[in-house]
Amino acid sequence: MADDSSATMTYREAVDRIPDRELPEFWIGSREALAAQLDSLERGRVEEVTTSPGGRPIRLVTYGDRPERDQEANFNSAVAGKRPAAYANRDERETPVVFFIGPVHGHEVEGLTGLCNLLSIVETGRDLRGTEQPTIRELADQCRLVVLPCGNPDGLDRFEPESLHGMALADLEFWGQGTWADDRSIGYPDAKQRHPMTGDDVGFLGCYFDDAGVNPMHDEFFDPMGPEAPAILDVARREAPDLTVSLHSHGYPPGLIRPKYVPLEVQADARAIHREYNARLDDLEIPQIYASEVASESGSPPPYFNLVSAAYHVSGTIGLLHESAHGLSDGYTGEITHEEILDAQLALYEVMLRHATDDSGP
Ligand SMILES: [Zn+2]
Repeated sequence: MADDSSATMTYREAVDRIPDRELPEFWIGSREALAAQLDSLERGRVEEVTTSPGGRPIRLVTYGDRPERDQEANFNSAVAGKRPAAYANRDERETPVVFFIGPVHGHEVEGLTGLCNLLSIVETGRDLRGTEQPTIRELADQCRLVVLPCGNPDGLDRFEPESLHGMALADLEFWGQGTWADDRSIGYPDAKQRHPMTGDDVGFLGCYFDDAGVNPMHDEFFDPMGPEAPAILDVARREAPDLTVSLHSHGYPPGLIRPKYVPLEVQADARAIHREYNARLDDLEIPQIYASEVASESGSPPPYFNLVSAAYHVSGTIGLLHESAHGLSDGYTGEITHEEILDAQLALYEVMLRHATDDSGP
């Protein structure tokens, strides 16, 4: 345990610690870079789904026609009626639907970079490095693709380093979870023990939060505090995705976290995807984490419900929670480059798209 006196950082110190470096061209770590990418789209349909508390737009990009669907009931009623198809008849529809939720934590820009590269691949066949990606493009063209590149533009705007690669755990704590007014880092898990993160004793508001102090991953889903999570769940409800991923980052190797409070069969699907993903990471010689065993919910404190759990409960989607590596200098990842961070994102998308297309059709 660090003692409190060593765990302080002022805003000025935090800014001074940002390395003087040039980030790769393919890296998307700011709202300006995201906006430029969205402005360049020719095939994708862009719509604004909501506005953040800080007045920033949250945009959705879709490709492919939305499959026809006779919705007679909402998901939970359809399930209670023993006919989930009354909500969405996934067995009958020919086009699988895959929903990519970009970072709802502003500093976790690895997923933002990944999704902007995915958009580039769907538009041009090439990622933002200029590398041809025919497999991903072909798979994507067989799906309806629903991409919300940034789920928390307020948090993203507060994130000045644009990448935590090569920086330390202390920097992740400052930019991610923020500080108290006396400059002590809040850190994990304390950053979740107050929600919304407001009050006179809050110093720098971490990029976890929107401008109203709400962490969309843990909104009050039945009585929302912020606009981001409800907008994301609206998209899930209307699209009925086969597969959904919420993209995050941490100080460990990349991998999927077990979805909580969903049926064991959904967990098993998520685990199968994780194993396929790990095989791809093996090929790429990128470190990885073990795929969690399927489990029922128990323990003290109990497992937590979050945005991924909620996405299942409004749409029946297989929900994945992906954590990228930040590439911290003192994390537990081992060496990982910006290039490899992007490679891992693209490997995940490929595995997901393949899973969705394999499962579809009669
Ligand atoms: Zn996160």
